[in-house]
Amino acid sequence: MKTFDFYANGQWHKPFSGEYLDSIDPTTGEVWARIPKCNTEDVDKAVQAAHQAFEHGPWGRMLPSERGRALRRLGDVLIENAEILGEIETRDNGKKTKDITPGLKSWLADSFYYYAGLADKIEGSVIPVDAPGILNYTRYEPFGAVACITAWNSPLLIAIWKIAAALAAGNTVVIKPSEYASASTLALMQAFEQADLAPGVLNVVTGLGAQTGADLVNHDLIRLVSFTGGIGGGAATAVTAAQKIKPVIMELGGKSPQLVFADADLQLAANGVAAGIFPPAGQSCISGSRLLVEQSVHDEMVEKLIKVISSARLGHPDDPATHIGPIAHKSHFDCILRDIEKAKADGARLAYGGNAVKPGNAANGLFIEPTIFTNVTQDMKLAQDEVFGPVLAVIPFTSQEQAIEMANDSKFGLAAGVWSQDSARAIRVADRLKAGTVYINNYFNATTQSPVGGYKQSGYGRENGIEGMKAFMQIKSVWLDTTPNQPDPFA
Ligand code: NAD
Repeated sequence: MKTFDFYANGQWHKPFSGEYLDSIDPTTGEVWARIPKCNTEDVDKAVQAAHQAFEHGPWGRMLPSERGRALRRLGDVLIENAEILGEIETRDNGKKTKDITPGLKSWLADSFYYYAGLADKIEGSVIPVDAPGILNYTRYEPFGAVACITAWNSPLLIAIWKIAAALAAGNTVVIKPSEYASASTLALMQAFEQADLAPGVLNVVTGLGAQTGADLVNHDLIRLVSFTGGIGGGAATAVTAAQKIKPVIMELGGKSPQLVFADADLQLAANGVAAGIFPPAGQSCISGSRLLVEQSVHDEMVEKLIKVISSARLGHPDDPATHIGPIAHKSHFDCILRDIEKAKADGARLAYGGNAVKPGNAANGLFIEPTIFTNVTQDMKLAQDEVFGPVLAVIPFTSQEQAIEMANDSKFGLAAGVWSQDSARAIRVADRLKAGTVYINNYFNATTQSPVGGYKQSGYGRENGIEGMKAFMQIKSVWLDTTPNQPDPFA
């Protein structure tokens, strides 16, 4: 079994309390690693290191293009270590190795290269103010030490998105991954030691959200918090941050609708809707977990979907033949099964799946079949609350207006899908959907260049793209008097 320590000021530390938390492999049910349970002293060590590195270390004074070079090194190191990092994340949360490792080598490494290029391109402006003789200009500046709190479903992806943008902007970072899957982020830091960043630029503390996470958010020297997780943890974080007047970026959950119109290519839509939820077992924030389908093609669409998912193979996440891996941890697994029972009790019709299963090559793992419920109504819990599992709720509509109304009748607003062969109509519908991302005839695309984030209780602030970097910066307005005169105010 592997025991990790936490990382602060360029060094590995044992937790002050000597306490560790177990990390359980969801495929085998075995404890495979231990992570530090960091307390207030440990958090202080990491935050002080980040603060010192920003205020007094070379990072805070570095030229923007030098920061860009440092980020390119991080990208190179990520590619060199992608295999081992992918294996660790698979142990930690059951994500399929074939999904993580190639992603780390390509589009996640590209996050560092993208922001490396952007590090010296965020420009302020000269503003024509109503003040004769005054030159007024703006500058984008970093905040200082920032906290990045991440969820268990994609710890490396979420950490990389945040680190790349935060560092490019000139901040220093303390990361706090989820207690359910911290090992890959600690391993990422082991790899990044090869990139020779100055001590304190990147730090990682681990432990429970309400303790380690809350201590981090509450620390006076943390100037901004970027949070990815659920509504409960997000709200608690926002309240703690508000007491110290700290800005927060919130990336929360969703109940994203997929709108399938009768004029869609139904086979394409069935493939896309299935791909939009089932391959990660529904454990993605943007899972399209509500299928709103035009009544006239409802039965045909459900039939096609069932045909698509009936060939899905559940199994060991290391096995290249596996389509769907396990649920990342036991309490979440139990939660999904309870949601399935609740949907049945509420009167939804189980059209496919609904069971916990034990695949031959991972008989002790936490697996749930891809599940489809029909006869779902808007007032059911299944239509309104995030399951974050492989459970699709199907709801029919009879008009475009009704489809849009039902899609927007949600506390969430993270993503939405529109399936129609009439592009002009699809664009009109997309314009009216209250969601941070809308996909037309595709789903699940995300690259570093384009901003992602939520409407309503799916969060605020953006990650990725130029907006993702500006979210980690504050604007200073500078007023310079070009005239030689400063009149005496009391003359
Ligand atoms: P969670 O809110 O339980 O935990 C997220 C992180 O917050 C963890 O590191 C946790 O330790 C920490 N935390 C919890 N309570 C805290 C507190 N009081 N103070 C400070 N930190 C605290 O979420 P989760 O179960 O890890 O992740 C699942 C959720 O994340 C789902 O709702 C999913 O949709 C969402 N998610 C959103 C995105 C996105 O980009 N929008 C991406 C991935 C996951």
